[in-house]
Amino acid sequence: MLTKRRLLILDLDETLVYVREGRATGECDFTFPGHHAVRRPHVDSFLEFAFRRFEIAVWSAATADDVDHRGWALSDVLAIDDRTESYRRNYGNLVRVAPFEGDPADRQLLELVDILERRAQRPDVRGPD
Ligand SMILES: [Mg+2]
Repeated sequence: MLTKRRLLILDLDETLVYVREGRATGECDFTFPGHHAVRRPHVDSFLEFAFRRFEIAVWSAATADDVDHRGWALSDVLAIDDRTESYRRNYGNLVRVAPFEGDPADRQLLELVDILERRAQRPDVRGPD
């Protein structure tokens, strides 16, 4: 099993949390002025896995090119994001997730653990699953 450290870039909005403007009308996990937010189901176990297995960056405006310039080889960089825009030129580094908009039955983060573990064990993390 490869133990080489890899970088995982986490997107927040609509990947790990769903933030809405205004006051919560139903259940929500936290609020801040003018907004309320719901955490994606299984986010705690997902983050526990992610911090154990990867170096973590939360860098919402990052692109894979930026990461390359900071000393990580693109063969060692993964990103999870609900949008593809930042990764157009480095699509192989992206594991795209369905946008989270509050569905309490969402299971995407459970599925991601298996996908990321498989990718992390390759010599090059890029490419199709
Ligand atoms: Mg997002």
